[in-house]
Amino acid sequence: MISPFANDKIIKFAGRGIIKMKKNIELEINKEFCKGCSFCIESCPKSCLEISGDLNSMGYHFPVVAKIEECTGCCACSYLCPDMAIDIYELVG
Ligand code: SF4
Ligand code: SF4
Repeated sequence: MISPFANDKIIKFAGRGIIKMKKNIELEINKEFCKGCSFCIESCPKSCLEISGDLNSMGYHFPVVAKIEECTGCCACSYLCPDMAIDIYELVG
């Protein structure tokens, strides 16, 4: 899905929340939005995400990128996050 708000640098696919992944894909996780439900981890078809050993300010374990090279930018993690903690971007141009 391509956002109508795209500019010549970034296309915003989904969600909110920056962790560099594939060559032209960025995944941004706002750990302070996270409540540690792990839906994003379970939804990823490439097992890119894993739970962090660290806690956010609310005391929840948040996801981190474990396999940066495997992300396809499918947005499943972002769509499944009930707290809109994950944004995915494709860098273009
Ligand atoms: S965008 Fe898709 S492949 Fe990348 S971390 Fe999210 S669910 Fe996994
Ligand atoms: S789906 Fe959202 S709220 Fe749940 S663990 Fe992942 S980032 Fe946190």
